[in-house]
Amino acid sequence: DSSDDPIAAVASDVQEWAEARKGEIETLKKTEEYRKEFLGNVAHELKTPIFNIQGYINTLLDGAMDDPEVLRHFLNKAAKSADRIADMVDDLEAISNLESGRESMEFEIFDINDLIKDVFDSLEYMASHKKIILDFKEGCNYTMIVEADKYRIRQVLVNLITNSIKYGRQNGKTLAGMYDMDENVLIEITDNGLGIGPEHLPRVFERFYRVDKSRSRIEGGTGLGLSIVKHIIESHEQTINVRSTPGIGTTFGFTLKKA
Ligand code: ADP
Repeated sequence: DSSDDPIAAVASDVQEWAEARKGEIETLKKTEEYRKEFLGNVAHELKTPIFNIQGYINTLLDGAMDDPEVLRHFLNKAAKSADRIADMVDDLEAISNLESGRESMEFEIFDINDLIKDVFDSLEYMASHKKIILDFKEGCNYTMIVEADKYRIRQVLVNLITNSIKYGRQNGKTLAGMYDMDENVLIEITDNGLGIGPEHLPRVFERFYRVDKSRSRIEGGTGLGLSIVKHIIESHEQTINVRSTPGIGTTFGFTLKKA
């Protein structure tokens, strides 16, 4: 019996302490593994556009730039790759800010309906290239005051609506829905585009996960957009989910707290 034996009592305390720490150590190990994997992914993702830019420049220096048309073509390609790098760095910065909590959340009271209209306006030009209509679902266009970090919720809407255009079809539609649920409001962004297969659906919020890598690349995707969206909504202690039918379309829905 350890109660009579001070050494045994200490030993048992130590053992108890170690058991309790086991979980923490496991978590730390996982975080560390995850961090390493993430760094590896970032390096890999940045390599491709940098490698491409080097290729274009070297081809030009090797003589291709004597032809003005070829020169323009390769410079355009190099500029696209540079844009990819810039987008990636922007997204990485957003993730880093969210994770370190360096930029703490700034809650404001605002009309989410106004914000959706604002984001629709700013993406109308992009949508017009595919003749995609951005609109509200019937009965869903009304004032709804919420309390949230407006700047970050704008980012959520921009990412979701941009995706609905990128993975939408020509002459398609992106519709916003707003549903009053007592304490919260549910915001849904629905498209009638490609859709996402059930085997991919649970993974689309993971960093760098893409259903179709080449399509994402053509569309200028970083593979980070949805992970940022999820992170922002969870920082609000709200929820986000997705449902989709391949060939029919996709709906992303998230909640916000009503003010
Ligand atoms: P990306 O930068 O590749 O668009 P995201 O994190 O925004 O990265 O999205 C991850 C993947 O989820 C995309 O590559 C795409 O395959 C899929 N996806 C996202 N939104 C949609 C959508 N509205 N319709 C179909 N697929 C989508």
